[in-house]
Amino acid sequence: LLFRARASQESVFARMSRLAAQFGAVNLGQGFPSDAPPAFLLEAARRAVGTHDQYSPPAGLPVLRDAIGADLGVDGGDVIVTGGATEALNVLALALYGPGDEVLMLEPVFDVYLPQARLAGATPVTVPMQLSAAKGWTLDLGALRAAVTERTRAILLNSPYNPTGTVLSREELEQIVALARAHDLWIISDEVYDELYFGAPPVPVRTLAPERTFTVGSAGKRLEATGWRIGWIACPPGAGVAGNIAGVRQQGSFCSPTPLQAAVAAALPLARTEGFYDHLRSEYAARQQLLADGLRDLGATVFTPRGTYFLTVLHPSWRAETLVEHAGVAVIPGEAFYAHHPAPEGLLRVAFCKSRSEIARALERLARVP
Ligand code: GLN
Repeated sequence: LLFRARASQESVFARMSRLAAQFGAVNLGQGFPSDAPPAFLLEAARRAVGTHDQYSPPAGLPVLRDAIGADLGVDGGDVIVTGGATEALNVLALALYGPGDEVLMLEPVFDVYLPQARLAGATPVTVPMQLSAAKGWTLDLGALRAAVTERTRAILLNSPYNPTGTVLSREELEQIVALARAHDLWIISDEVYDELYFGAPPVPVRTLAPERTFTVGSAGKRLEATGWRIGWIACPPGAGVAGNIAGVRQQGSFCSPTPLQAAVAAALPLARTEGFYDHLRSEYAARQQLLADGLRDLGATVFTPRGTYFLTVLHPSWRAETLVEHAGVAVIPGEAFYAHHPAPEGLLRVAFCKSRSEIARALERLARVP
């Protein structure tokens, strides 16, 4: 076989952005913001280029590892810097899974989770979330428990959850942790939207199970610079775990761009002191409202997210493939998040990390769809 795991398929996010450009559509598909990154990040980058231009250690610039550690409340020595969260997840798959292993994850599933597990030789096993008009998205813990076998190696979580917007409760996480402990599973917790929540802050899984949790995070999502490709892994403490993960990480791009690491190191504490995440939350809460109200007026059923910058909606007649070409609005088709189970009929993911004017223009265009 030339290609393992059919991983060569174009990502749905890249495809919808390509079609949006081709048809001149408003891009409410791929999750990247319209707004510029904060000035304190850009200024730090200007200072870093010309002063931090050579390789950094594969585990990351020490100042950045310490800044991430301080932000997350872990030791900087347990933090590994990666090329975005996507590479972080891939490094973990390569380091932790092997042939014959099963990896549990929920469905709808973010697009890289399945091919990354397969490229590592493992089998992804998905447990479907339940969707009802009354309760929105809910997790069936019984189904998750029933999916564990003697081959299960890890549980991959994403909370706040792309695309559903679910934030797993402390009680749900405690039960998942109990399951992981009973079967000695790793927990990989993709927390790239950790600062993008609209109610109570998400509980970091590492605080419940530090001994087995890898936390994945993203400077791109937090600081509105998704093209910078600076992500991280906070490893379980001690006994050479981070060293092993760094060893796998260096086989990819060796290290992340050094000047951008230096800039993120300077910006992470400033994001707290300048209230940047509060600003993001209040801004995105307002845009979410704008988009959700508009979509409801157009006949969509909207599931209000507790976190992320995505809305999931059901609409009886809208289809992503035709909307991008004929309405001039790009969204992500629900089927893109389903591999093993059928997607709910008419499911779409719509991003609200876009400007108010783009959201308004998209709604005007959707109103003209017959
Ligand atoms: N996280 C982004 C999204 O869901 C996309 C990530 C990517 O395209 N690599 O839209």
